[in-house]
Amino acid sequence: MTKKMKVDTTIVTTGRDPHNNYGIINPPVYHASTVLFPTVEALQSRTAEVLYGRRGTPTTFAFQDAVAELEGGYRSLVTPSGLSACSIALLAHLKAGDHLLITDTVYAPTRIFCETVLTRYGVTVEYYDPGLGADIASLMRPETSVVYTEAPGSQTFEMQDIPAIAKVAHARGAVVMMDNTWASPLFCQPFELGADISIQAATKYIVGHSDVMMGTITTNEATWKTTIKNHGAIGITAGPDDVYLALRGLRTLSVRLNRHMETGIFLAKWLQDRPEVLRVLHPALPTDPGHEIWKRDFSGACGLFGIILKPVSDEAVAAMLNDLELFGMGYSWGGYESLVIPANPGANRTATTWAPEGPLLRFHAGLEDPGDLIADLEAGFERLNAEAAR
Ligand SMILES: *Cc1c(COP(=O)(O)O)cnc(C)c1O
Repeated sequence: MTKKMKVDTTIVTTGRDPHNNYGIINPPVYHASTVLFPTVEALQSRTAEVLYGRRGTPTTFAFQDAVAELEGGYRSLVTPSGLSACSIALLAHLKAGDHLLITDTVYAPTRIFCETVLTRYGVTVEYYDPGLGADIASLMRPETSVVYTEAPGSQTFEMQDIPAIAKVAHARGAVVMMDNTWASPLFCQPFELGADISIQAATKYIVGHSDVMMGTITTNEATWKTTIKNHGAIGITAGPDDVYLALRGLRTLSVRLNRHMETGIFLAKWLQDRPEVLRVLHPALPTDPGHEIWKRDFSGACGLFGIILKPVSDEAVAAMLNDLELFGMGYSWGGYESLVIPANPGANRTATTWAPEGPLLRFHAGLEDPGDLIADLEAGFERLNAEAAR
């Protein structure tokens, strides 16, 4: 086929080659540490595709090829968690004396990595207001080597003007990274927005079943060599069984994500009309402050969004959440199940303040029947109101 195929086709066909695998549809799981070479020459030339297990096996390469193609990047690398994808990408492109600009809404453990590791190795870490677009120019220094973005924030859902940020960063020679976990490559193409490196917590939607930790780093051609060199030097590797499950999960990403989106918007709209709710944080809603950017840069939404409740006691919130039947309480997201957690993102911020009028709840819309989910929330609000009236 010469015509470029649509993403739903790519997702099914990429990263596999059945006719070189006995006709079997899925790439096999290759377990390896030692790889043997037939001659001294072959051993020493290091030209073989598979050299050593830590560098990946054909299972890893199949998944990496699939992710690179879907992200529209040059090539991809697998890491054993989403956080390690964030940390390896940063380590690869920063050195002592450099200045890092990172969004104040960044995933909290990425922030902890910056504070715990990067600052100790002489990198100056500066957090910026996610609302800055081209105005980020005022924060750029001669030694700014990376501008790190994440949109929307995974607790407060601010969008970022990534094309405007990338333009400024590139004019100053900085590398632009984007944590693209929320939208996945299906609903956001970071390289089209100007990013040089796209990071996925594949743990979330790519794996999709809450049972594997996995990360990916996809780069453009210019940042590839430095990235793979550092990834290899640091020595992390993902196990082939987990990589197999990630590639298997990827095949259904489109059907799952479209359903997560539909149910998420359905719940968000229902919540918007509830008297207990002050505000819904969901960039796909026209009332959201990030909606225009979302409409311009993204082609869809996942199932993760938030709400701000009207001021109410912690006990009333607990009464609502503790007895929910379908919404589980737990960290992470992207699986088939619905989730809810109370969150306090204000505590992490330094460049901006986040002090909403009431408690923040973060929801993940799973694949259950949306009517059943609403009934569960309705009963929860009854408990909240009963506790608040005591
Ligand atoms: C979960 C998450 C990560 C980290 O992924 P893990 O696989 O849990 O390490 C990174 N970024 C974002 C936006 C996330 O939601």
